[in-house]
Amino acid sequence: MEIHVELDTETKMFCGCKNGMGLEKEPNKNICPVCTGQPGATPVPNAQAVDFVAQAGLALQCVISEESKFDRKNYFYPDLPKGYQISQYDLPICRDGKIEFQVYKNDEDKGNTQAETYTKTVGIHRIHLEEDTAKLTHSTGGNSLVDFNRSSVPLMELVSEPDITSAKEARKFCEELQLIFRYIGISPADMEKGQMRCEANISLHKEGEDVLSGTKVELKNINSFRAIEKGIEYEIERQAELLDNGEEVVQETRGWDENKGETFSQRKKENADDYRYFPDPDLQPFNLSKDYQQKLMNKLPELPNERRERFQKEYNLLPENVEVLTVNRDLGNYFEQVASELTEWLRAEGEKVDDKVRTKVYRLANSYLITNLAKLMSDNGAEVSDLKITAENFAELIKMIYLGEINSSAAQTILEEMFKTGGDPSHIAEEKDLKQVSDTGELEEVVDKILADNPSAVEDYKAGKENSIKFLMGQVMAVTKGKANPPMVLEMLKEKMK
Ligand SMILES: [Zn+2]
Repeated sequence: MEIHVELDTETKMFCGCKNGMGLEKEPNKNICPVCTGQPGATPVPNAQAVDFVAQAGLALQCVISEESKFDRKNYFYPDLPKGYQISQYDLPICRDGKIEFQVYKNDEDKGNTQAETYTKTVGIHRIHLEEDTAKLTHSTGGNSLVDFNRSSVPLMELVSEPDITSAKEARKFCEELQLIFRYIGISPADMEKGQMRCEANISLHKEGEDVLSGTKVELKNINSFRAIEKGIEYEIERQAELLDNGEEVVQETRGWDENKGETFSQRKKENADDYRYFPDPDLQPFNLSKDYQQKLMNKLPELPNERRERFQKEYNLLPENVEVLTVNRDLGNYFEQVASELTEWLRAEGEKVDDKVRTKVYRLANSYLITNLAKLMSDNGAEVSDLKITAENFAELIKMIYLGEINSSAAQTILEEMFKTGGDPSHIAEEKDLKQVSDTGELEEVVDKILADNPSAVEDYKAGKENSIKFLMGQVMAVTKGKANPPMVLEMLKEKMK
């Protein structure tokens, strides 16, 4: 796989122009003599971009080159006014790293969330820094327009080792990389916005053999994770059919047609030496000392795999739930605040908070968070940052459910009100008269009346028809408008009919 990522720096790679990251609406706004390739304009490297690439390398366990440099990659294209792209050839900033991720053995699309996973390790061959090209728009009338806003935006290129052996692994590889880039904050890496571009090089070998067929096909212009998986699957089948029929696979670049679900030939591939790389005479080689590397290392945040492990250990959640809180980092952070407030609430109520209780309430909180609250959020197009519900109030709601102060239908009503107003759950329960009746005297009165009003049901129960207790239960719930504490009512009915 080859991954290109636009880096979210303040300015462009070799000039002081603002880096609009493809989000600038007006064309040719952030430009200057350097990024439009005027003769005599001199590039100055962006230190923040170098930091970002080195940080990505450290997060991916790469060796950081103590000595590095920029090279010119020469080719002609209308989106490249200098006639060369500044890139890195033999001394990339990072090399020899690796990434570990989980892959489902069975098809997760079939909703099989309990599916077994295996750990996949993919080597990172190199990560280097270069500049993006300008953007061309070809109109139907035959005119082509060029927008230099993107010209010289810092671009990171990552090349994996050929360790990936299925379309699904390729997709997971790209998804995990995107997550890591987002965690370390170097790019939003949104594929639809072109901030992350994935290319796959696909070649086959015979089953049981290690020798490749020798021809690789490059798959480009893919703009979603799903398309990566589908495109590779298609290409594997296409090449297998050719090889099975004794035909040759042509070395070429192919595109992905989302509508047809097919790859198509774009151009025959040139070799790397056609580019006539040479060191850029305008740019000094640079050093990335051990001291510099250590400073960057200290700045690295908790990475996705570290979070997965910690969440598993600290909260004892199910793996698929840990995954939701890892992929949605803000939701994970919110959950952590809720969990901490929750233990406070329980202690304040005089509850003993041991490991068993902790696991129970954390799972309860997690379930309300990723099902009930997440549904409200998605229905209303809200993000975690838009939430009016404080972690403290959400924790109180969970405490009320856990201690049986409200039942689940009341909890849903209260949550919806909290979502709208940001109100506190005990006030809402009070106002809407939703508190569960757990007062023995009050319940006993109701239970006695129901038993007196339904003598035949009582007789049935005594005669061994256990089901009639459900009917009596329903009567009690109806009279109390669903607020009676069900386990208490059940206990009382049994006791009184003994
Ligand atoms: Zn510029």
